[in-house]
Amino acid sequence: MLVPILTAGQWQAARTDRVADVFNPSTGQVIAQVPLCTVEETSAVVEAAAAALPKWSATPVIERARLMFRYRELLEKNFDELAKLVTREHGKTLAESRAEVRRGIEVVEFACGIPSLIMGQSLADVAREVDADVSRHPVGVCVGITPYNFPAMVPMWMYPIALVCGNTFILKPSEKVPLSAVRLAELLVEAGCPAGVFSVVHGDAPCVETLLTHPAVAAVSFVGSSPVAKWIYERGTQAGKRVQAAGGAKNHFIIMPDADPAATIDALSASAFGCGGQRCMATSVAVAIGSIGDPLVEQLSTHAANLRVGPTDTTSDVDLGPLIRREHVTRVAEYVEVARQEGATIALDGRRKFDSPGFLLGPSVVDQVRPEMRVARDEIFGPVLSVIRAANLDEALALGKQCPFGNGASIFTRDGYAARQFKQHFNAGMLGINVGVPAPMAWLPFTGWNGSFFGDLHVQGTEGVQFYTRQKVTLSRWFAPSAKQASEDPLWSGKFKSS
Ligand code: NAD
Repeated sequence: MLVPILTAGQWQAARTDRVADVFNPSTGQVIAQVPLCTVEETSAVVEAAAAALPKWSATPVIERARLMFRYRELLEKNFDELAKLVTREHGKTLAESRAEVRRGIEVVEFACGIPSLIMGQSLADVAREVDADVSRHPVGVCVGITPYNFPAMVPMWMYPIALVCGNTFILKPSEKVPLSAVRLAELLVEAGCPAGVFSVVHGDAPCVETLLTHPAVAAVSFVGSSPVAKWIYERGTQAGKRVQAAGGAKNHFIIMPDADPAATIDALSASAFGCGGQRCMATSVAVAIGSIGDPLVEQLSTHAANLRVGPTDTTSDVDLGPLIRREHVTRVAEYVEVARQEGATIALDGRRKFDSPGFLLGPSVVDQVRPEMRVARDEIFGPVLSVIRAANLDEALALGKQCPFGNGASIFTRDGYAARQFKQHFNAGMLGINVGVPAPMAWLPFTGWNGSFFGDLHVQGTEGVQFYTRQKVTLSRWFAPSAKQASEDPLWSGKFKSS
């Protein structure tokens, strides 16, 4: 099956002869092929989106909101099918896919409130008899370029908000997971989205470069790895686009000696190994404070060793599904060896043979890691957790300051003062206090810091509305009628005369 593109309201087969395989990571089998669109094909999609813009941006805001109300109903109706599709092309467990689709629907629900969210401001008498108001207007054709690890949720961080703000939108999903994006688009068309208002194009570097530089594109939202995010930000802003680019992560999880042991182990294991460690909010480094180190490593290794690793498409009795590709399994597994060579201790080794053709890798726990080691610095994006021992909270906060990323961090403690110190001083944008995955929520911005985000306005929440709108300030003065006008104009029959 060749995955179609959506342009000018039509599903079409792309003409390019360059394609990439889409796999079911649980079976290792190819389930579709995705076209890698050419510059010309991508430009045509942009031009169709630009042609649809004037009518859509002039559509009353409540009608744009009603599209989202109808879309939400269809997403609910097709919820199970969407979750299964995410599992099929990504490999995460069905429970994880359901959670992802649910988070995405919440953004649609947020977008339903656009008439209130997009309101402007006014200030009467800003000068003598002059009033000022600020109104919000669409920016134009917007583009979303998304990663493989959340095939449904990350696209939904973007287009529901962009569309209700009056923009047209082109989604370029990850070529590794294009099927969920296509299904989301089919449902949007079914909900009544007009032709050209929402488009889907597939591709790699030539397609992305075209989207970034085409004169008709106004704004680009990107989520993916940091090197690509940085390049997207630089290239897009150079071409005069508004760009928000969320990047990779190296999230820390601090365990204070007073933390509740059972709750901490459960949360740490879920954060490090859930979705195979392929979450931008996954914990990658556990920082054990003081005496907690030895029992933590022992209990965590026992817990992780008991996680059920296996294919997710046919059974729900699995805790840890496959990784996205065979090459990714090899890359992640190499980090365990690198850690050993750099002097760390392998407390749990997830490298083993599985009785399945899927892209499977068990969880690994690497102890006695030092901050300068590669496992402590690189984004691994797989089920390998490093444990760094620290003497106190100050040392843990210092580790955060050295980290080039800044997506998120968590602390587990019963001590309010330690929690407050963490909140005030940890060098990252999304924090969890006794919460292992400080997940982005629809109503709030996803506030990655440092090398985890390039731009100003983040995705989601009211920052999303700000990103997808530009403001207009209008100063108005209306002159009082002259005495002659007032006497001649029936509207000014005397009683309305200016005093
Ligand atoms: P990726 O950077 O490889 O790809 C992301 C998108 O960019 C894809 O659509 C891909 O086709 C495109 N792309 C990749 N290389 C490109 C190039 N050279 N030129 C043009 N386009 C290119 O990321 P991924 O592997 O799909 O996803 C995993 C990464 O995403 C991890 O680093 C993870 O931390 C990050 N991520 C971040 C967040 C966040 O909100 N900060 C959320 C999810 C994932």
